[in-house]
Amino acid sequence: MAATMSLPSQALNIFTCEPEYAALATELAPEASIYSATSALQDPHHVQARPSLIAKLRRADLMICAGSELEIGWLPMLQMKSNNPKVRDGQPGVLYAADVVDALGKLDKVDRSMGDVHAGGNPHFHFSPTRIEQIAEAITAKLILLDPSSKAVYQQKLADFRERWQQAESKWAQQAQPLKGQKVVAYHSSYLYLFDWLGMEQIGDLEPKPGLPPTTSHLASLLELTETNKPMAIIYTGYQDSRGANWLSKRAGVPALQLPFGPGVDGIDTLFELYDKVIADLLAAAAEK
Ligand SMILES: [Zn+2]
Repeated sequence: MAATMSLPSQALNIFTCEPEYAALATELAPEASIYSATSALQDPHHVQARPSLIAKLRRADLMICAGSELEIGWLPMLQMKSNNPKVRDGQPGVLYAADVVDALGKLDKVDRSMGDVHAGGNPHFHFSPTRIEQIAEAITAKLILLDPSSKAVYQQKLADFRERWQQAESKWAQQAQPLKGQKVVAYHSSYLYLFDWLGMEQIGDLEPKPGLPPTTSHLASLLELTETNKPMAIIYTGYQDSRGANWLSKRAGVPALQLPFGPGVDGIDTLFELYDKVIADLLAAAAEK
């Protein structure tokens, strides 16, 4: 018997390094099977190349990661062990966000004494609404390349996402007005793009050097800094040790604020909900100041 029924296009397997790209891919390719290697409670710089991750990458048609060396400690190993030609660097099934956006904080000169730095620029792009939109476009281009028969569907999904995203972006910009000019101390440069977008200023970093935990002497110097330059909050995220933030909070009389770093925690499923929550938490902290 001849097969005359038209079959739905084969669902793509998408592997993302971070949950923000899984959430974005879900907006753009809801039929796809999407898996994130890390949760928002894991430090994406340091991940174990577990057998389960290798198995997931082995089946992937498309891999979406931040790039810019964020995953340099674990992804190359994962790619090698998964032995999946589709997701080797340079193949159509690979998308690094860093290749399609402009990174902040690029360094001209780097040496290891500077710590676990982001030499190619800060790779924690996902609190930049403009960059999220650029990455969404790049994901759609990949989806069309890998599954051309569904081109119209992907284009429609992108247009729909864009419209909702741009609307939300103007709402957030409006809501976040009171945050403009606010100073914070934060852990790592995790929220660099958020602060840049909202006009906030990170006056100090709980890390003495990128990738290193706070030391007593470093915390003492931050305490001194907060005496002359009072921040509205001390910000850290779920996978970062809260002890330094709490120590400083108590002595400086500034609230410590744990913000979510990605979807998949605190009942947050989408990037929209993530931005809503982060802005609401920051506004609440600013109102208490
Ligand atoms: Zn980092």
